Amino acid sequence: MTRNIAIIGGGIVGATAAYYLSRNGHQVTVFDEGTGQATSAAAGIICPWLSKRRNKKWYRLASEGAAFYKQLCKDVQEDGGDASFYTVSGAVLLKKTAKATQEQYEIGLKRREDAPEIGDLKILSKEELTTLLPSIQTQENALYVAGGARLDGDAMVRELLTLVKKAGGEVVRKWQPVDSSLLETYDSVVLATGAWLPQTLEPLGYEVAIRGQKGQLVVLQTGDYENEKLPVIMPEGEIDIIPVGNGKVFVGATHENDLGYDLTVSPDIIANLLAQGETLFTGLEGAETIAVKVGTRAYTPDFSPFFGYVPGATQLLAASGLGSSGLTTGPLIGYQLARLAAGEASTLPLEDYSPAAYITSK
Ligand SMILES: Cc1cc2nc3c(=O)[nH]c(=O)nc-3n(C[C@H](O)[C@H](O)[C@H](O)COP(=O)(O)OP(=O)(O)OC[C@H]3O[C@@H](n4cnc5c(N)ncnc54)[C@H](O)[C@@H]3O)c2cc1C
Repeated sequence: MTRNIAIIGGGIVGATAAYYLSRNGHQVTVFDEGTGQATSAAAGIICPWLSKRRNKKWYRLASEGAAFYKQLCKDVQEDGGDASFYTVSGAVLLKKTAKATQEQYEIGLKRREDAPEIGDLKILSKEELTTLLPSIQTQENALYVAGGARLDGDAMVRELLTLVKKAGGEVVRKWQPVDSSLLETYDSVVLATGAWLPQTLEPLGYEVAIRGQKGQLVVLQTGDYENEKLPVIMPEGEIDIIPVGNGKVFVGATHENDLGYDLTVSPDIIANLLAQGETLFTGLEGAETIAVKVGTRAYTPDFSPFFGYVPGATQLLAASGLGSSGLTTGPLIGYQLARLAAGEASTLPLEDYSPAAYITSK
């Protein structure tokens, strides 16, 4: 039976939910205001397997989320879409010591038993590293992960929403409150509102334990126009370096807890990011800053994402709290929301990701 479904939020979660619902013949309307969207500001690294986080439920979501890209790209291509938003580029993790590199390597080998997407793992010699990344300054303690990937979040969302419109869906660019007329019009409402779930649910008398975190990322233009072949570079600490093609390189991102939903560009912080980047990668020296992306990540108090039914509401589904790994977990979460909105079972244990731990009635 065809259902009429509203999706509020057109970031990676909302766009994926909308895509799978419309692909399965449901009538979809996406409402997206867009200011501060995390997806379009994101760095784009999909490489969760070597994380030292001990949260098993998060790891399951992140590793299955990374694996889900294969299915998603296949589906998009089958529908005549362009899946070039996702590229398996490989990733290089830079560690401070040989011991730390060895530890990461062993974690990777163990996790690869259940996550073949990790692909080849190799501790690189100085020569191997400089062959792969001629401009790298640090030449020791590098681990190569062949399955590491980069995602253009903005391009993915645009492509998915184009396919939604092609299938007869609608995309409305405005802030959408959850009011009685919305609930009367649609069979289900999916709240894929990222860091703005508290503001969206507040009028209905809910409190949501989500805080916003500001992230800034610099986009540079270098002279290496063939840099799309380079792997993403993940040093220890805050910054990553992501060559994205046509000479463009992303350097970032910051994690500014005190500044929450603020979207202003801070020149001193950007200068600091660039200085850190140049110390590691001489290819950035003299590069022109062509943009600074600023977005708001959503965090729960225990850093765990959630999705499922809003407590006490049979028509309302929600997801939030994807934090700094939402490009990795987001498509799988969007897919689960699409299944639930269509009346199908989730393929993940819902109790492990329950919104009830974070959404309460006032
Ligand atoms: C700088 C930065 C770098 C990052 N790098 C990475 C990375 O390398 N790898 C990774 O895995 N993750 C990364 N992330 C995290 C990832 O981007 C996010 O976790 C993910 O994009 C969240 O997706 P979302 O769909 O939940 O929210 P968003 O992408 O924020 O989308 C929510 C959308 O809903 C809209 N909205 C909210 N409420 C309403 C309403 N009531 N009406 C209408 N519209 C509404 C908003 O305007 C927004 O467009 C990064 C994030 C940032 C900020």
